[in-house]
Parts: sequence; structure tokens; C-alpha cells
Amino acid sequence: MGRRIIIGIVLAVIAVSYTYFSSEEQDVPVTGRQQRVAMSDEQQQQLGLQAYDQTLAEEQENVVSSGAQHDQVQRVAKRIAKVGGEDKPEFDWDVTLLQRDEANAFCLPGGKIVVFTGLLDVAKTDDELATVMAHEVAHAVAEHGAERIFREQLTSRAVTAASGAFADDPQRYVQVASLLGAGAQFGLSLPWSRAQESESDHIGLIYMARAGYKPEAAITFWTRMSKAGGGSVPEYLATHPSGATRIKQIQGWIPEAKREAREDPA
Ligand SMILES: [Zn+2]
Repeated sequence: MGRRIIIGIVLAVIAVSYTYFSSEEQDVPVTGRQQRVAMSDEQQQQLGLQAYDQTLAEEQENVVSSGAQHDQVQRVAKRIAKVGGEDKPEFDWDVTLLQRDEANAFCLPGGKIVVFTGLLDVAKTDDELATVMAHEVAHAVAEHGAERIFREQLTSRAVTAASGAFADDPQRYVQVASLLGAGAQFGLSLPWSRAQESESDHIGLIYMARAGYKPEAAITFWTRMSKAGGGSVPEYLATHPSGATRIKQIQGWIPEAKREAREDPA
């Protein structure tokens, strides 16, 4: 092994250690997993709000602001946000329904939710709609975006340091951060890791139970979603794993969800 390579590795280790230990460790709600994230709650909220405003401005003519579907989305979001807000009281929750054929929904960092009307063709009941909303809200509450950016930082700083230029790289940070905004802009969720998806399934199930919805609806909904044909559904599935393993995992969490169930969420 050449001397330069060894120096590169040493610098990479120093850079990664510095980034890692200068971040704060925190617990994910519900699962209690310890995580490190790249941004403060306030930074995440600003980023989310920016992406939300941008989405609404670009999709102005598609915003659904009245009618049965609008009312349903508002009704379910209100209950899920109330539960999510117990873990993230500083989030500023809001939901917008957009007229779009895709079966999709996402929740931005900070609590802004966007739902496409195409989702309401697959989610037949309030309980099923709550399944998706709680899952998306869980991604935001568990700060999966900021966690992902933190991992990106670790990688990029290791690469930067190894190449001999050990310097903080705000440009890279901005690049990755803008990925979140871009995701919202195109109505796509970030491609979460498998572990993050599982965690959101778990937290989401607990949240829907706490909000007074039937956790069993998650089974019927995700099963239908994975079987649903049509041009719009595969796009959501591209970013969200499905299949027997996922259903089995959700079934395993149902007893816990039932213990968390609240009959009368005022
Ligand atoms: Zn997800």
C-alpha cells in the first residue's frame, strides 16, 4: 500500500469522525432507534416550507380546495398530524390535495403534506388513507431526509479528505439539501433506504392506531397497492417497497398498534 493511499485513508477517517462526532445523537420516536441528522428542526422546516410553497405555486391550477375528496383528506390529515405533533410539537402541519392521476403522497420535513387525487382511487376508506398519510408523516417525524443528508455528508467528506483537500464543503451540502426540494417539486418521495421504509411502516401503524384508525387497514391497503395495475401506481411502488415481506412485517406490529389504539381521539 502506497504512502499516499495511507495518508488518504487517515484523512478520510479523521473527516468522517469529525462529522460524526460533531453531530448530535437523538432517538427516533416510537422505535427508539438512535440516529444522527445533518440539520436542525428549524433548518428542516425552512427547507420543507420552501419546497411546499414552490410546489403549490407550480401546481396552483391543480389544487383541490373543496368537495368530498378535499374534506376527506383534511379530516384524516388533522387526526394524523395531531398524533405526529405529540412527537414533533414544533412542526407546522398542513395538507394540500392536488388533482393528479398518480397514486402518491408525501410529507415534507417540517410537516407539510401533499396528496394526489390518484391515491384516493386506491385508498378506499379513511382508515386506508390514514395508512399512507401516517407512513409519510413518519418519514418526516423520523427525520429521514436529514438523516440521509448526514450520511451523504459522511461519504462526501471522506472522499474529499481522501483526495487531499480536507475542507468543509458547503456546496455539496447545498446540493444534497436541494435534492429534497427537487423531490417535492416533481411530486416524488426521496428513495428512502429499506430500513427507513420499514421504520415508517412501523411508526405509521402506531400513529394510525393512536389516531383512532384500524391498523388492519394497512394490510388491505398495501396488498391492494402492490396488486393494483394502471399506469400511475408503479411510480409510488418504485420508491416504496412492497411484497410479502413487508406485509408480514406489518402484521407483526399489529398487536403493538392495538395496544396503542385510542378509541376516541378528540
Ligand atoms: Zn415511505
